[in-house]
Amino acid sequence: MIEYTLVRSDRRTLSLRIMADGKAEVSAPRFMPKSEIDRFVSSKETWIDKTRKRLAEETADAEADAQNMFTPEDIRRMGQTMVSLLPPLLRKHAPALGVNVGRVTVRMQKTRWGSCSSKGNLNFNCLLAEAPPSVLEYVVIHELCHRIEMNHSRKFWALVEGRCPDYRSSVAWLKTEGRILMSRAGLR
Ligand SMILES: [Zn+2]
Repeated sequence: MIEYTLVRSDRRTLSLRIMADGKAEVSAPRFMPKSEIDRFVSSKETWIDKTRKRLAEETADAEADAQNMFTPEDIRRMGQTMVSLLPPLLRKHAPALGVNVGRVTVRMQKTRWGSCSSKGNLNFNCLLAEAPPSVLEYVVIHELCHRIEMNHSRKFWALVEGRCPDYRSSVAWLKTEGRILMSRAGLR
């Protein structure tokens, strides 16, 4: 049985509405039997569920907007952007470094910008779609250099610098602006 607040008045018909907090309120004619009102409310159960769900989603969206959070739609769009941005960058830098690349994936991650497995499978954070092109390019170079050096040694950074002389500004960007991007993806 669905709980509802009953408001009786001189009206002739029944009406049902769902308040912003999800509670149901029924307006009913003054002398209509309670059993008839209950039946009416029961018959509207599907509609009530749907409406409550929609209201909850709207509230969540409004909260996300207020905090400047990325919506699932934003994240999807970033993933698509990355899928188009990555191949030219990989084609530009992998042969120059003399490395091959396995599977390339794009994911939403809250802790890392990219990764490279020992088999050469690369993964990139879709949030990089929101970063300046030079930062994305740096991350691509960084992961490709891991095909040669699976560590962050001096040798590794020398390789990175060879392909990306200004890499330090990208590292700094990721630590400050990048962290903000990750926090905007936080809730979901
Ligand atoms: Zn690394």
